[in-house]
Amino acid sequence: MQLEEGTIKKGDRYYRRGKVLWVVKYGERLFSKVLGTYPYYVELDLKTGKNVCTCPLGGDCKHVAATMKAYDSGAYFEALSKSVEVFPEATAMEFLSEVPELALDVTLKELKFSLSTDESGSEVAWLFRRAIKLIEKSGREEALHILEEVLEEYKHVFPDYDLTIKLEKELRAIEASFQKAL
Ligand SMILES: [Zn+2]
Repeated sequence: MQLEEGTIKKGDRYYRRGKVLWVVKYGERLFSKVLGTYPYYVELDLKTGKNVCTCPLGGDCKHVAATMKAYDSGAYFEALSKSVEVFPEATAMEFLSEVPELALDVTLKELKFSLSTDESGSEVAWLFRRAIKLIEKSGREEALHILEEVLEEYKHVFPDYDLTIKLEKELRAIEASFQKAL
């Protein structure tokens, strides 16, 4: 793989800013998801350096460089099943489900990101609900304020959705359950 120096620097920065959501290694190959202008998916062969990315460049890009950086830093899961080749994201989620704290971090990043790219509100709602479950599981009450901010923005964009009212109820319910636990 011949990445340009500028690309490698940008990749390092991406990694440091937490834009690499997950990396899964299977044999000599890496699979990852990186948040750029949109979410991008990378596949990379460590032996040959051959890589593909779903960004407009198609590969040899900062998303590939960021994936390498994450791998070099030890931030990856090692997959045992071949199914990762077709379903890398499902594999990553399975690993993450074992570590609710980490799963919550990844979910909150995706949630904030999808607020700016998801025009339907569906993806945001789905991630919002996942975040609620993970806050319950991990007991990380302090993360609730992020959901408050997301909800405010959501209300602004989708003021007349029944879904908006439901999401607010679900958030109030978990807030109440934390207060009761005090
Ligand atoms: Zn790319």
